[in-house]
Amino acid sequence: MAHSNWLYQTRDIMFQIKEWLGVDKLLSLDAYKDYYGMDDINSILDVNYKVCRDVMCPANKDADEPGAKFVGGKERAVVTPDSFKTVYKTVMDAELGPQFGYRGEGKIPLCWYAPILEMQSAASPSIVMFWCLTQGAITVLQEFATQKQQDLFIPKLRTGEWGGTMGLTEPGAGSEVGAVQSKAFPTDTPGKYKLTGTKCFISSGDHDLCENIIHLMLAKTPGAKEGTAGISLFIVPKFWVNDDGSLGAWNDVTTMGIEHKLGIHGSTTATLSMGENDNCYGWMVGEAEVKDGRGVGMKQMFAYMNEERLNTGLFSLGCIGSAYYAALDYTKLRVQSKHSTNPKGPSVRIIEHEDVRRMLLSQKSILEACRALIYKSYLYRDLAVDAATPEEREYYDDMFAINNPMCKAYTSDMARLATGDSIQCHGGYGFTEEYAPAELYRDVVIYGIWEGTNFIQAQDYTGRKFTMKDGAPFKKWVDQIDEFVAGRKTDEFAAEFAMMAEAMAAFKEIVNMNDAWTKGDKQMKQLFATRTLHAGARVYCGMLLLDQALLASAKMKEKGAIDADFYKGKIATARFYIMNHVPDIFGYLKSMKYGDRSAIDIPEESFM
Ligand SMILES: Cc1cc2nc3c(=O)[nH]c(=O)nc-3n(C[C@H](O)[C@H](O)[C@H](O)COP(=O)(O)OP(=O)(O)OC[C@H]3O[C@@H](n4cnc5c(N)ncnc54)[C@H](O)[C@@H]3O)c2cc1C
Repeated sequence: MAHSNWLYQTRDIMFQIKEWLGVDKLLSLDAYKDYYGMDDINSILDVNYKVCRDVMCPANKDADEPGAKFVGGKERAVVTPDSFKTVYKTVMDAELGPQFGYRGEGKIPLCWYAPILEMQSAASPSIVMFWCLTQGAITVLQEFATQKQQDLFIPKLRTGEWGGTMGLTEPGAGSEVGAVQSKAFPTDTPGKYKLTGTKCFISSGDHDLCENIIHLMLAKTPGAKEGTAGISLFIVPKFWVNDDGSLGAWNDVTTMGIEHKLGIHGSTTATLSMGENDNCYGWMVGEAEVKDGRGVGMKQMFAYMNEERLNTGLFSLGCIGSAYYAALDYTKLRVQSKHSTNPKGPSVRIIEHEDVRRMLLSQKSILEACRALIYKSYLYRDLAVDAATPEEREYYDDMFAINNPMCKAYTSDMARLATGDSIQCHGGYGFTEEYAPAELYRDVVIYGIWEGTNFIQAQDYTGRKFTMKDGAPFKKWVDQIDEFVAGRKTDEFAAEFAMMAEAMAAFKEIVNMNDAWTKGDKQMKQLFATRTLHAGARVYCGMLLLDQALLASAKMKEKGAIDADFYKGKIATARFYIMNHVPDIFGYLKSMKYGDRSAIDIPEESFM
């Protein structure tokens, strides 16, 4: 039974956005200064909060049961609960969905969109899927489609009248995207192709929430090269869209079924077959040419994937938050066992027990660390487009590129730990479906898998991101942490700065070992890639939380007792994270230094 009790808190969101992130500098840039002031975020977040609390979270109870149902047929093969229709209409009317995908005049900063999507995911990890992929489709079309294609598809995607999907995966092409078998054959009309092939696991691939679905499908033209080089990207509508924008006939995209999954039951995950009746057509995005068998589809799809990787970080974050606030609520009420300091006294609320407090602060520190990482990365995305000079834009683009695999993989890995701790705080009741964390624990598992598994993210981080532009951006990324650790030391946080300095020394050893393995033992590099990404995320998040603790300390001095509980919480959170999550780096380094190859060397036959 999916959760429907809204307990989300926004104080830390407001701190991170309004007091810490430095959005005021962003708003002074040309793209925003005539449109938004700092206080506008209050009203946008307020509306979103009410939609999440009053409409979306209550509807989430229908996500597991009845959930989405496959009924078959050509045109409406998947039915969603009625409550989802109310949510969808409410979110579209309030312009809290794909509207953010539009990046033109009067656009809202993406770093403001971050808390909106975080809360929506907290309210319903299933329902949010019906519009966030539409937003990514708009991004791709804005960047790569012809003007005619943009005019035809973007307006209705923006209003949510049509939905968008990303079609990469096929039965034989998962992590190995280059193995796609879908085919696109040219027709007499330039840019228009006839498509065949089967896509599986397509999120929101079919449903009854909007009148049309625009699939962005990867396929290969005749004579295209092997692997990703030969891939092109096609706009394949469920119902054909005529030149005047009116809807034509069903476009022969057959929904073969939807998956029965571990979590996000209300989100429809469809298997789609193109051209069962030899009548499926699509437009090549941007009418790009395929030269010497080389398509540009993978590059175009990367714009979509980068967007959704960042979004996946936010989905994970929303679930971490929902699970944490549920644990907080429960542990303040549940009375069990005497306190360790008063064994003959009365039984106490479990929030008073040391180990429960450890689990709560661990969840809080993961929540706030990942929030800082992701919000900062969204800010970098804004600045990569809107900063004043080309040099600045390049810098922010590079920093975003380095952060993005961590936003996706680190947050979703930690979401499994944090939602597990929420269950543990609930004891046996947490293992039942009556309480929120059971659903959230199931739901977060997918975030480590889709959009490139977390190993693929680690490979990207330790491969492309370490070495892009001869390693200069990565050096700047490391330098910023070093400079922070060396330059911002205070007596109040002497121990935390000392731990960070040791952790940075260890991290640099880890990076050097990765460099050596790139030239030598490539298997070791693969074996330790995930841990290297975690090491990077931990030092980076340690820096961000310590920076927030410094600010919190200054605010306490400035404001005295006003909001002191909140700022004390920020300081305790940073201390806990740095003293408990950052030191995992030393364990990773030890295994690497000892050159542990057991997982490589064990004979396959010995896995028994
Ligand atoms: C609910 C859900 C929704 C989805 N939504 C979409 C969608 O909207 N659009 C879409 O296109 N796809 C979607 N997917 C598909 C998803 O992106 C893939 O499942 C994912 O990319 C992994 O591919 P796979 O399942 O084939 O696993 P595999 O590629 O078979 O991977 C299995 C395991 O092997 C590992 N592995 C693979 N290659 C290597 C390697 N070289 N080195 C080390 N380890 C490796 C992986 O990391 C993983 O742990 C969705 C999947 C699910 C379950």
